[in-house]
Amino acid sequence: MNTEIERLLRPNIARLQPYSSARSEYQGDAEIYLDANENAYGSPTGEGLNRYPDPLQKELKIRIAALKNVDEGQIFIGNGSDEAIDVLFRIFCEPGRDQCIICPPTYGMYGVSAAINDVEVLRVPLTDAFQLEVNGILSAATERTKLIFVCSPNNPTGNLMIRDDVIDLAKRFSGLTVVDEAYIDFAAEASLTNALAGVPRLVVLQTFSKAWGMAGVRVGMAFAHRDIVEQMNRVKPPYNVGSLPQRVILEALDKEDRVSRWIEETRSERERLRSLLSTLPLIREVLPSDANFLLVKVDDAKTIYGHLKEMKIIVRDRSEVPMCEGCLRITVGTPGENDILVNAMRSLSQSGRNEAILPILLGIS
Ligand SMILES: *Cc1c(COP(=O)(O)O)cnc(C)c1O
Repeated sequence: MNTEIERLLRPNIARLQPYSSARSEYQGDAEIYLDANENAYGSPTGEGLNRYPDPLQKELKIRIAALKNVDEGQIFIGNGSDEAIDVLFRIFCEPGRDQCIICPPTYGMYGVSAAINDVEVLRVPLTDAFQLEVNGILSAATERTKLIFVCSPNNPTGNLMIRDDVIDLAKRFSGLTVVDEAYIDFAAEASLTNALAGVPRLVVLQTFSKAWGMAGVRVGMAFAHRDIVEQMNRVKPPYNVGSLPQRVILEALDKEDRVSRWIEETRSERERLRSLLSTLPLIREVLPSDANFLLVKVDDAKTIYGHLKEMKIIVRDRSEVPMCEGCLRITVGTPGENDILVNAMRSLSQSGRNEAILPILLGIS
């Protein structure tokens, strides 16, 4: 399968002589390592942290390859998915010249990363059903458009993009189609990683930050044709994922059972929360979700957000986001947390917008 990646590279990246680290020049097993200017005595914590980490995270990739049913050469590992996004911009988008397409309402990081890299953002909004406008996206693209970002399940709307639309788009677009699957573990459909073999310029992003419960560790993944992964590896900082993150992710991978149970519970809590919230008078609509959050349309988002905050419950106010007017994004919590949220919102429903009696009703006067 020909990816035609060379043609898309920034010229300076095509010419780049990547940094060659001590750890990538010598890969065997030796007795004495005097090649990397490390502290030969040890690390103060005694955990072997005096040595540089594996720059290509080989052990981790073997495990992830088996888990995700892809080849090790199709995996890039980054300091969060944010790093994968940034690296893609730096490989393919010439600052001040090239463009990307995003489909709002969607995750804010694509636009921010584009701005940091001085890449113009073309916006082709999702349809009223929050689906891709495939023909609209393709006709907005110019010869300078290198990346299209698709988020599925989408943040903040929670819905999956229609699989055939994404594949159709990725096949017809001459640049890279990047599908962010941060929430795919909660979804009713399979990952697009199983389409990689037939779609040369598809990149699938996943993360350990959500279902895997490792947001503090900062490890994200990109799955793509090995031609693309090779370029990402040339451009990333040589030791972009530390030894500790690599080690704890390996430990987490041993606890897949626990993660699967949490995913099951989150999905059932999501549906329970959705039906409870739907009965409350102040809620106009709770959108269906394939993620671990619900987008909830309410009468007066700012006021409700403020009242919940006073009760020390923090949700995400998305009411300023075009097409999400009046909406709050609520993460699915534990059963206990969800009950507290529902009770709080019920008390707000009962008090209506009568500011004066609210504190009395809530017992916080
Ligand atoms: C949370 C989230 C991520 C995760 O980013 P990390 O850098 O891996 O923590 C990625 N994409 C979307 C859409 C998200 O909501």
